[in-house]
Amino acid sequence: MKNIVIFGAPGAGKGTQSDKMIEKYGLGHISTGDVLRSEIKNGTELGKTAKGYIDNGQLIPDDLMVSILANVYDGFGADHKGVIFDGFPRTTPQAEALKEMLAGRGHKIAAMIELSVPEAELMARLINRGKESGRSDDNEATIKKRLNVYHTQTAPLIDWYENEGVHHHVEGLGTVDEIFARICNVIDSL
Ligand code: AMP
Repeated sequence: MKNIVIFGAPGAGKGTQSDKMIEKYGLGHISTGDVLRSEIKNGTELGKTAKGYIDNGQLIPDDLMVSILANVYDGFGADHKGVIFDGFPRTTPQAEALKEMLAGRGHKIAAMIELSVPEAELMARLINRGKESGRSDDNEATIKKRLNVYHTQTAPLIDWYENEGVHHHVEGLGTVDEIFARICNVIDSL
């Protein structure tokens, strides 16, 4: 079982690369952003709470995120090939909660793959995506807030996973296929 955290700033290509990893390796996929957007669409209580944070470029509180994670993970059954965590964890408490949740099931994170992309490129990609995605948070003011949240709250996880001995750095500039080949090198080495 290869549970993988795909990590990076907003716009780093986590979703795009996750799709390719799912196809090639038969992995499951948990995108917490997608989970929240679907809750908003369905008008649930969680969705109503989440919308305010998302539209403001802020993170949903850890306890709320952590409480939905185990349910989604268990939905893949006990003998899956591995799950890609995309957009989770985003804070140190979330990383600790994920570790504990997996340990309770006899599982672990096999790799944290960090896609690194320069700030100007992230900004350009997200503004471009906003033209088509219709995402309420893909506008310049909110993108700036999200990148700031990434640097202050999420980026410290690079050291956290380095300490866990599972951090892998992948250059996130290039064509989708070039970047995917770099990711495959990491996964195939696990
Ligand atoms: P994403 O689709 O991963 O870019 O997530 C979009 C938004 O959903 C983020 O800007 C946050 O507001 C919220 N979100 C997604 N995942 C998390 C998480 N793990 N913790 C807190 N908030 C999250």
